Amino acid sequence: VTQSLDHVIRNVPDFPKPGIQFKDITTLLKDGAALALSVDAIAERFKGTLIQKVAGIESRGFPFGCALAYSLGAGFVPIRKKGKLPAPTYRQEYALEYGTDALEVHQDAFTPGERVLVVDDLLATGGTAAAACSLVERAGGRVVGCGFVVELSFLGGRKRLPGRVVHSLVDYAAE
Ligand code: AMP
Repeated sequence: VTQSLDHVIRNVPDFPKPGIQFKDITTLLKDGAALALSVDAIAERFKGTLIQKVAGIESRGFPFGCALAYSLGAGFVPIRKKGKLPAPTYRQEYALEYGTDALEVHQDAFTPGERVLVVDDLLATGGTAAAACSLVERAGGRVVGCGFVVELSFLGGRKRLPGRVVHSLVDYAAE
């Protein structure tokens, strides 16, 4: 799985700014077999765990998260950048590998105690995923796992997700 996905993840040096090695997953998404493999591999890891909602992080967490929700028989909840969701939201500020931003979730996205898998394309410093987990919990959900296609483990993102079940498919252990 790791090897076949590694081949379809495009490395774009110096995007969006100098020094960043951007892992572009559009080249994975456009490859039907690779898309199926990535979704199936994350689903496989969590199929023994009851997942009632998948929370996908805008925007590259949406295609993977929605496909995973379908695969696991769960519903899908979007976690969006600030100002995008129309109904009342909770908001969480967070730091990116490059810059800062805020994420929001609808206040009524989860029923109390609902079991949630948080999904994004990539785990870097973990700030985004940690903010998403806090939001899910503020909205009453229970985070039972976090799934990523790519992990940049040299950035230590798992340390920002202590005690959480974290699963990723392709790890770039060094820049
Ligand atoms: P972080 O909060 O540092 O874990 O950053 C994770 C978020 O930023 C994810 O939504 C990624 O899509 C994006 N991201 C951070 N670093 C990269 C990178 N090197 N390549 C592609 N996306 C990245």
